[in-house]
Amino acid sequence: MNTLNLRVPSDHTRFVFITGGVVSSLGKGIAAASIGAILEARNLKVSLTKLDPYINVDPGTMSPYQHGEVYVTADGAETDLDIGHYERFVRFKAGKCNNYTSGQIYEHVIQKERRGDYLGGTVQVIPHITNEIKQAVLSGAADADVMLVEIGGTVGDIESLPFLEAIRQMGVEYGDRTAFIHLTLVPYIAVSGEIKTKPTQHSVKELRSIGIQPDILLCRTSQMLPEDARAKIALFTNVSVAAVISAQDVDDIHEIPLRLHRQGVDQLLVRKLGIKADSADLSEWKHVVTGYRRRSGVVRIALVGKYVDFSDAYKSINEALADAGAAVGIEAGVVYLNAEEVTSESLDLLKDVDGILVPGGFGDRGIEGKIAAARYAREQEVPYLGICLGMQVAVIDYARNRAGLDGAHSTEFDSGTPHPVIALVTEWRDRSGATIHRDENSDLGGTMRLGEQKARLSESSLTSRLYGEDTIVERHRHRYEFNNNYSEILSEAGLFIAGTSADGNLVEVVEIKRHPWFIACQFHPEFTSTPRRPHPLFIGFVKAAKARAEQRGR
Ligand code: GLN
Repeated sequence: MNTLNLRVPSDHTRFVFITGGVVSSLGKGIAAASIGAILEARNLKVSLTKLDPYINVDPGTMSPYQHGEVYVTADGAETDLDIGHYERFVRFKAGKCNNYTSGQIYEHVIQKERRGDYLGGTVQVIPHITNEIKQAVLSGAADADVMLVEIGGTVGDIESLPFLEAIRQMGVEYGDRTAFIHLTLVPYIAVSGEIKTKPTQHSVKELRSIGIQPDILLCRTSQMLPEDARAKIALFTNVSVAAVISAQDVDDIHEIPLRLHRQGVDQLLVRKLGIKADSADLSEWKHVVTGYRRRSGVVRIALVGKYVDFSDAYKSINEALADAGAAVGIEAGVVYLNAEEVTSESLDLLKDVDGILVPGGFGDRGIEGKIAAARYAREQEVPYLGICLGMQVAVIDYARNRAGLDGAHSTEFDSGTPHPVIALVTEWRDRSGATIHRDENSDLGGTMRLGEQKARLSESSLTSRLYGEDTIVERHRHRYEFNNNYSEILSEAGLFIAGTSADGNLVEVVEIKRHPWFIACQFHPEFTSTPRRPHPLFIGFVKAAKARAEQRGR
């Protein structure tokens, strides 16, 4: 549970609230992130927060099928994937204070009520829940010049009402220091060849009925809005024509900051908020867009996972691959393979790919397919990037098929395995009687290792060469670990331990030396990769895949 410390924001902090209307999935997260990027390009310090109306207290336990990946912040918060967009578009470090669900807000209020903090008073949505929401917003403001607050869901949903009421109140309390942006849909009706403004009119009406007058409308459209449509929307919604913005569909999301800037969104905001700011220098974003445009050729990367029908489940990995591809000058095409369908007999699924990536995961569905994929990459010399579970399966394959440890497994999937090469730290001790050099009070046993941790890389590793340094900081989200009782036997069999935790106790990276490119890491490099600075492991991986494609005359 996040602690809600009431922090009074610096008196220069301005608040921009972003709501959505008509339908969900219009890209509010990307819109918020893009506006953040433009404001940052004007030398303003930006912070972003997402308020999620669902009741779940912990986004970490939600199915990736419903909400996409769980994004992990440096301080170990398991958050909504929009936080990933924020960190990819803006140079700010999100944390526990940048994502709140209704469940967390209510939980906190109920805890306070149980403690007697309300002195027996009647606890109500207004003011108790709304006050808590306002505190949540303030807790993420830090000393930002501008704080962008995205309200999840769609205006008109029952769930989002307390959030909307709270931001309405903030609009009154902070006056000119607040601005409201509403993202809506302007559909194109193909049969009549017309665009329709009515859903937008209704959505704004709904918003105004709860007391929020938007300052800017971002209208998702397939075409730039014609002037007459903008004028009509402006008239019906009480928004100035200049503030009716086309949020046109784009092939490359990195163009969005440039397009919104061209239509003057940042200018409207700084004027509304009374901020003096430099003019926007968007050269870095132009560079990213040029990188994407200049790509030539495609490499095929197999992503062997569980949620293959829903690419949002691997959002950060997809973005990291695409961004690395743009940096390398090639399109990184992802071929999603259902791990359950990859068996030792059906490996021809992997025959035409240039790289194999096994991502993180929980649960045993498809586990043998993932192990088979790691084995295939190892034996066929296909570049391999293993992430978290992807490292664990690579270790399991190596143990079984190179170190003669029959039946080796992770205790997550086979508690009776004769060779628990991956296990909870507490289990390493139980099974071998060997002592591990770890604080007895450490809670690493059954709990998740979460968030940013330091690792040390071996000087002779490919990994340290790619990073250009030997101490790195990366984010974790897992319970199980490489079992050190097997490090000697696996090293002797040729598995190279390329990195460990700073205290040397936990294995962080393994490599196979006699292989063109085989890196498997216990951490999640995808969470720190950004379009402006794609992660070195992803760049290295895509380059290796490109080299293989070229070698094979593709
Ligand atoms: N299930 C594995 C563990 O808990 C791996 C987790 C992951 O890949 N994020 O250790």
